[in-house]
Amino acid sequence: MRVAVIGAGILGASVAWHLRRGGASVTVFDAGGTQATPGSFAWINASWGNDPIYRALRLASMELWPTLAAAVPGTGYRRCGGLMWDLPEADLRAFAAEAEDYGRLVTGAEASTLEPGLVAPPELAFHAPGEAQLEPQPAAKAMAGPVTEGRVALDETRGRPEVLIDGGREAFDAVVLAAGEGVNALLAPLGLQVEMSAPPGLLAWSQPVAPLLNGLVMAPELHLRQTAEGRIVVGEDFGGCDPGAEAEASAQLLFRQASTLLGRELTLERYTVAKRPTPGDGRPAVGALPLPGFYLALSHSGVTLAPAIGAMLADEVLNGWRDLLIAPYAPERLIYSV
Ligand SMILES: Cc1cc2nc3c(=O)[nH]c(=O)nc-3n(C[C@H](O)[C@H](O)[C@H](O)COP(=O)(O)OP(=O)(O)OC[C@H]3O[C@@H](n4cnc5c(N)ncnc54)[C@H](O)[C@@H]3O)c2cc1C
Repeated sequence: MRVAVIGAGILGASVAWHLRRGGASVTVFDAGGTQATPGSFAWINASWGNDPIYRALRLASMELWPTLAAAVPGTGYRRCGGLMWDLPEADLRAFAAEAEDYGRLVTGAEASTLEPGLVAPPELAFHAPGEAQLEPQPAAKAMAGPVTEGRVALDETRGRPEVLIDGGREAFDAVVLAAGEGVNALLAPLGLQVEMSAPPGLLAWSQPVAPLLNGLVMAPELHLRQTAEGRIVVGEDFGGCDPGAEAEASAQLLFRQASTLLGRELTLERYTVAKRPTPGDGRPAVGALPLPGFYLALSHSGVTLAPAIGAMLADEVLNGWRDLLIAPYAPERLIYSV
């Protein structure tokens, strides 16, 4: 089977990897430029705020990550655990009571043992040992394999999926749209649109420093992790608020707060503002489109969900099999004609 994957971000890359593993001949196309993946906080989690069905999908994907990372060198996957206290105490206790399979409450002394780099540890926190972090751009590159560079368009007027690039056209048995924010531009000539938004998120990056953090730290309005290279990455509110015109000032503020938490002056090396492709109801939109041969992979939390979405969508494209965990998230609920 010949399959085109449009988009070499973390979702397209995972779909491509799983399709190849399933025996497909895969061509990945990517336009370069703006992407969510390199600007992602890359926290792999099933933390608070998820309904049980969506939580089950996230947990399944978390379980798939170690196997995928073992098969694909260079993802930077690390099951480092997460320490979280970004909820009022009553909510933190309520979450801990309903998430006993995920982690447990820890005292300030235990929090200090887990994260000795914190000069002001919380009195009470939740520790989730199964949470992990990734180096999202190297991971996507490693999974995508060879990428054909260029902005493509799509056509179905000859009764089969075709990819248009550089004045030429190529027919495929199936085309997977994993184009993130760019998906509606691809769908428009096909007479379709998907309800979605792409809110921006700010992350601030330090120069590499000696090890300061063992795992992920989710303090109130301040999320931190340390990359494999030693950079401290800081975001606000699930990895990035909308910085508006004040991006640099917001990044400096995040760094001052992080410096206080770590008792160490951090130097801002750069900041990134990336858009989060987000389906209209905040849940994944994954599966067949209402046009023969076309499929969609669109999701918030794409770093967490990449293994599950990649494996399940590849199964659907190659075998027509739709996994029960992804079944509630068919794109049709968000697709409309134009
Ligand atoms: C600040 C921030 C923090 C985040 N934090 C987390 C987190 O902690 N945990 C988590 O799980 N997720 C997080 N996310 C979300 C996650 O990063 C995204 O869900 C994921 O990266 C989306 O990947 P993608 O492959 O769908 O899209 P992208 O990475 O945007 O890739 C889409 C690709 O499609 C290409 N493309 C588009 N149109 C065309 C075209 N016409 N022709 C060819 N190529 C095209 C683009 O060039 C791009 O490379 C965060 C995101 C942001 C921005």
